Amino acid sequence: MMLNINLRAKRFDNGCLAIKDLQFSARAGEFIAIVGPSGAGKSTLLNLIAGLDAAFEGDIEWQPPVTSTAANPNKPPQAPRLGYLFQESRLMPWLTVRQNLTLVCPTLGEAALAQWLDKVGLSGSAHLFPGQLSGGMQRRVALLRAFIVEPELLLMDEPFQSLDAPTAQQLRGLLFELWSQRQPTVLFVTHDLREALSLAQRILFLSPSPARIVSEHKVSRRGLCSTDDPQVNADYAALLNQYPQLLQGLHSPPKL
Ligand code: ADP
Repeated sequence: MMLNINLRAKRFDNGCLAIKDLQFSARAGEFIAIVGPSGAGKSTLLNLIAGLDAAFEGDIEWQPPVTSTAANPNKPPQAPRLGYLFQESRLMPWLTVRQNLTLVCPTLGEAALAQWLDKVGLSGSAHLFPGQLSGGMQRRVALLRAFIVEPELLLMDEPFQSLDAPTAQQLRGLLFELWSQRQPTVLFVTHDLREALSLAQRILFLSPSPARIVSEHKVSRRGLCSTDDPQVNADYAALLNQYPQLLQGLHSPPKL
């Protein structure tokens, strides 16, 4: 399965050009981080891919696996099963954890629910309301809600921002574990290069608005590591040494 993005332009009604000539592809099961300065167009990009905003020029194509029985040229292309995680957990505050989860997965049985909750360290929390959970626990439920639909494509918009460092690291560990087991394609937006280097297989760097891809970096790390791991520090230093303005979205060699 493959995601092909070819965006010629995204312009808002007020005339703001948010994306211009942005292309990339993602392999099935690939973990891609998208790094760019604030206001670059990262959230706009995810919203287009999620189908929340259909007003753009270009194509977003999802290629399902071709098998001899499934190949049917008359069948319209299917949208991928999608998970979407935002900066806030966006749980329904008037519903319990169980109800928040069965809302997206009505067929979820008690045994499966208990297994999932156990997997994310929330055993015994099914009857609690979001307001009775810590911020980190709420994010766990949100992560679970995204994975419980068995997504083929998981869109994440700075999901661990505004958490304290140990909680964010725990959640990255959980995300990495779930991704390793289930292998959805992940597009993970962040402005934190260390976070990208610690999680992703490939990093796409965006320009300031209007967004386009200025650079791409393949991460050599194996497995998950913490954001202050020596390998992450070394990759971080090497990238910024080579391209000092990369985090501002500028990809120019250092001046001699
Ligand atoms: P990022 O997620 O990288 O911080 P956004 O995708 O939120 O950036 O925004 C990209 C650009 O598009 C910004 O200049 C922002 O002001 C503009 N923008 C975002 N949403 C809208 C909207 N609904 N109407 C007009 N302009 C918008």
